[in-house]
Amino acid sequence: MQLKDSSLLCSSCLIGGAWSRSDSGETFAVLNKTTGAEICRVPNCGKAETERAIAAADKASKGWAAMTAKARGAILHKWHDLIHANIDDLALILTLEQGKPLAESKGEIILGTTYIDWFAEEGRRAYGEIIPSPWAGKQPLAIRQPIGVSAAITPWNFPNSMITRKAAPALAAGCPVIVKPASATPLSALALGVLAERAGFPTGVFSVVTGDAREIGNALCQSSTIRALSFTGSTPVGKTLMAQCASTMKKLSLELGGNAPFIVFKQADLEHAALSAIGCKFRNAGQTCICANRFLVEDAVHDAFVERLKAEAGKIVLGDGTKPGVSQGPLIDAKAFAFMRTLLDDAVAKGATIVCGGKPSALGGNFFEPTIVTGVTRDMRLFQEEIFGPIAPVVRFSTEDEAVELANDTPYGLASYVFTRDLGQMWRVSNALEYGLVGANEVALASGEVPFGGMKDSGIGREGGRQGLDEYMETKYILLGGLDKR
Ligand code: NAP
Repeated sequence: MQLKDSSLLCSSCLIGGAWSRSDSGETFAVLNKTTGAEICRVPNCGKAETERAIAAADKASKGWAAMTAKARGAILHKWHDLIHANIDDLALILTLEQGKPLAESKGEIILGTTYIDWFAEEGRRAYGEIIPSPWAGKQPLAIRQPIGVSAAITPWNFPNSMITRKAAPALAAGCPVIVKPASATPLSALALGVLAERAGFPTGVFSVVTGDAREIGNALCQSSTIRALSFTGSTPVGKTLMAQCASTMKKLSLELGGNAPFIVFKQADLEHAALSAIGCKFRNAGQTCICANRFLVEDAVHDAFVERLKAEAGKIVLGDGTKPGVSQGPLIDAKAFAFMRTLLDDAVAKGATIVCGGKPSALGGNFFEPTIVTGVTRDMRLFQEEIFGPIAPVVRFSTEDEAVELANDTPYGLASYVFTRDLGQMWRVSNALEYGLVGANEVALASGEVPFGGMKDSGIGREGGRQGLDEYMETKYILLGGLDKR
């Protein structure tokens, strides 16, 4: 691997300030998702190593919380700058272990740094309240304090930004963080650990533990030292973690799966809608929690929209994400690849039509062609399940009410999109959608400044924005009494 700084490719964990192997010496392989070759091996840690990281974080907690928010922010800013300075290496590591094209990797890393930049400053605005008193001689106050040691369990589809999105608010609030990255993509997390160490976070404030998800997850959930757990991943695992955290009553932030509707009304700018749909559906080969999962298209523009979508999808270039001009990489693994076939077989058996794609790419491996399917109906798995791949199912509708009803007909509630130039319709539909995020004529929704998160089975809590800091803070009410006694 041609890195400018080879120390960013790390094969040990950062536990309590020490770069460590697993206690057993066991490791697991991290694969290049395009070639299948082994990039390197990382420690297969479990309970004991996690408990050491927790103990180190606990030890560091008081000191970190006692620093001024400005001093913590200065270290966060340094981390931000180091990430930008090393973006070429970080992007290459990300592309190799995840498969997305280099330009997307850079975009993800830049997005991730917006959280660091934002929370480095937002920590300085963790204001409390002086509450107008209902009593003579007494003054109620509310102050916000760091919640304590926090943990982050992150997915493979955004191996860099899902870490900074959780770690930055926690660190800014005054909480040490222990990160457990996805086993498919631990190298981006470890590289962030190298840069965190260089930025000057005190020992134990930022740890990265790779290895057995159940053991590490259990140790984090069972620990009463860990006061907040932030998880991004699938809904079933999120529910398991929620149950596991009940005994220690932690604050939970859960960013889970989605089934995003992308509604195209006849009043839409079709060219803009089709171009937006391509980015929204096929970015990261469709492996994005806010990817459009169902295109709901009004009868009057259905055929014209599908034609445009097909023309744009035809421009997507599959291949090795490190090569110039490539716009779609492989799926993460053989299981994800096989799932595409399963979903398409189900849809075709129930009467859907494959307009383009629909099969493995001639490139082999886990490359799957960008696919458009029309005639999709509610009884199909494509309508009901999170696809997490490059398939665009299209569903027809004929009225605004029907569009909203179809859009909300899912247990998920993360992202949704509405395309129309009718302002009244845009507002009515945005209000009616049971989703945490609505993109109205827009699909690029995330940034440090805005609250990101889902409703229903898509999770609880918000990352980013003014709200993001609250996930890592407690509100303490103090009543000052006897103020009228001289
Ligand atoms: P996943 O299988 O739920 O895994 C996510 C993380 O949880 C990984 O680090 C995984 O570790 C760990 N994990 C798995 N089982 C665990 C257990 N029993 N206890 C503790 N940790 C456990 O999800 P994924 O396949 O990596 O990610 C895709 C999912 O994430 C999709 O549903 C997607 O929509 C969702 N997602 C949501 C958002 C959002 O903001 N809402 C953003 C991105 C992704 P191992 O890798 O070691 O198994």
